Amino acid sequence: MLIYITEPGEIHKKAIDLLQENNHKVTFKGEPANKIEAVFIRSYTRIDKGFLNSFPNLKFVLRVGVGLDNIDIDECKKRGIQIINAAGSNANAVAELVVCLILMLLRNVMNQNLLLKKGEWRDKKFMGEELKNKTIGFVGCGAIARQVAEKVLPFKIKEILGYDPYLNEETLAGYKIKKVELNYLIKHADIISFHLPLTSETKNLISMNELKKMKKNSYIINTSRGGIVNENDLIVALQGKIVAGAALDVFENEPKIKKEFLSLENIILTPHIGAYTFESDYEMSLEPVRKFLLLLK
Ligand code: NAD
Repeated sequence: MLIYITEPGEIHKKAIDLLQENNHKVTFKGEPANKIEAVFIRSYTRIDKGFLNSFPNLKFVLRVGVGLDNIDIDECKKRGIQIINAAGSNANAVAELVVCLILMLLRNVMNQNLLLKKGEWRDKKFMGEELKNKTIGFVGCGAIARQVAEKVLPFKIKEILGYDPYLNEETLAGYKIKKVELNYLIKHADIISFHLPLTSETKNLISMNELKKMKKNSYIINTSRGGIVNENDLIVALQGKIVAGAALDVFENEPKIKKEFLSLENIILTPHIGAYTFESDYEMSLEPVRKFLLLLK
């Protein structure tokens, strides 16, 4: 099969080797378009109607990583094109970053670090607080949220609340997550962490109305997708200390970010590094290839 690799720098070489070892041919140019039967993409290729029209014989979309928001799933279904991703392959990496961001926010690590680099000593203004006895809320309780739950429980936190309309109480209880409605979670959590896909239903799920209902000293962590928390409203909420702080790994218009974020003292920004580890980079590329080869057997 001829496979078009659209983002070669973003796909582990071992995954391309594995395809070739199994007698598949790869192209990095998308030619000849009518011979291409599979595409191998990461997050920056948009699989929309226009793209699909250019490759009339496409049968498979292989996606490095998990998120499918750059793929028109319905259109692929209509055309009988199978989508293969690497579900769960990066959950540990993202979960470790979430724990790291929670602790960095609570202990004001970035601000204290900056002080020292400016030649100053610690400042009471940036005194930290402890994770012990805090309530954590997950919006979306899939693979990543479950791994975060496992990692934060030993910190003796008070409880974990979870909002996920697609999962039942027993399933969540199995991960020590108490199923609640979104409104309850917003009002009761000290830290809200987002772990759900970006869809028309979840875009701007959190806007000023919800931010105002959060506890005064609460924090937001978003490692899922930009746009789930309305960026303009979050900026206003952080400026006005409506919420205490936020950590964002994802943005609405990556790789561009709103300049207002840069001048905020109560925010930590990372450039979409949730899955950016050697271990996860390898698994995210290899897993879709393994699944693809199994399907063709
Ligand atoms: P997952 O599919 O295992 O879990 C997502 C959960 O969200 C599911 O349980 C689903 O029921 C729930 N959900 C769907 N719609 C919802 C809604 N309207 N309200 C509440 N919950 C809803 O996915 P995952 O592996 O846990 O990943 C979560 C998200 O994290 C992905 O969709 C992706 O966008 C993002 N992600 C980011 C990085 C990064 O590098 N920062 C890496 C991997 C994944």
